[in-house]
Amino acid sequence: MKWGNHMTTIRTKIMEAASRIEGFDLQSFEIGPVVLESGAIQQVAPFLKEAGFNKITIAADAHTNAVLGLKLQGLIEEAGIAVQNTQISPDKQGDVIADEAALIQLILSLKATSAEAVVAVGSGTLHDISRFSAYAVGIPFISVPTAPSVDGFNSKGAPLVLHGDKITIQAIGPAAIFADLDILTEAPAALVAAGFGDMLGKYTSLFDWKFGSLAGGEIYSPVVAEMTTNALQQCVDNVDEIAQRSPEGIRILTGALLESGFAMLLLGHSHPASGAEHHLSHYWEMEFLRLGRRQILHGAKVGIACAQIAEHYHSLASRSPDLFPDEHRQTLIDEIEAIPDGNTIRALLKKVGGPILPEDLGIDEELLQRSLREAHHIRPNRYTLLRKYNETI
Ligand SMILES: [Zn+2]
Repeated sequence: MKWGNHMTTIRTKIMEAASRIEGFDLQSFEIGPVVLESGAIQQVAPFLKEAGFNKITIAADAHTNAVLGLKLQGLIEEAGIAVQNTQISPDKQGDVIADEAALIQLILSLKATSAEAVVAVGSGTLHDISRFSAYAVGIPFISVPTAPSVDGFNSKGAPLVLHGDKITIQAIGPAAIFADLDILTEAPAALVAAGFGDMLGKYTSLFDWKFGSLAGGEIYSPVVAEMTTNALQQCVDNVDEIAQRSPEGIRILTGALLESGFAMLLLGHSHPASGAEHHLSHYWEMEFLRLGRRQILHGAKVGIACAQIAEHYHSLASRSPDLFPDEHRQTLIDEIEAIPDGNTIRALLKKVGGPILPEDLGIDEELLQRSLREAHHIRPNRYTLLRKYNETI
């Protein structure tokens, strides 16, 4: 079966990178079809048919059902596969979140219909709900993103909200990804800006990863770091195309998000794509949940947090050199100097029409300062410069 050229491109890149990672177990590394092209949704039903699935559940929300879920349901039915549609209910604030209620809703319907696979139709949260629910009942999930908003489509980790706390559970990656450019180019500008913000976050996550490896002995892979760096650079080099939401811009952004996701998958950890900027973002999210406030797009928070962390790190590099171990001091300070400053990152976010300051998201100075002091507790075993600084002062 032909899965399209872009799939070949991404898959070839990933396999090539995997082959360069020392000691990587290529034999047991399996990635399914990754289709990134116009009309990709037409390939979902043939894939399901060929894989031998007879009963499918589509997981969507009211919005993604209207955009694609119901249409996809029709395409799968036409192929002679039984399909049931579970529309995930929003919380009291009107947000669909990966909390206990949403997970149980999907798990119960998977059990009730003896579904053999879940097709996630939506952006990051619907993927997290589907990924964990599929894992919990022991079936695969298939990814059909509706917006290039996040780099977590193909990760194994499912960030969940349990008792109001954000925790990431290792679950499963998708058996296949069908990213349809016709759908993705129609995604709202705010979701595209969020995907771009999630990519910009790599400026600080890549630094924190280097810091964690040199100062804290954490796992490191130059191949995976290079992959993530290239994905980030692609987005920055093509910011104007992405801002216009042209098919080429959306293809570049979606490809970069997928590559960043695969980079995490190759490493087996989220280090390349998640550092202090993600901890800040998670901290803000938990605060909003506690206060019963409406949720903000993950990538919007990450982009803004990245600018804050970049500013913080630039200042630490010049005024607190003792934070860096002697033997790696210069390397790490040079790495920080290579991160664009806060205002450059904000200017990039502004180009794609995203929010740029914490106050744009309703995050006041008190919450910002508190998060800068406490966010490292979100991931107690991740050694970031933010953590080192907070534990030193
Ligand atoms: Zn992210």
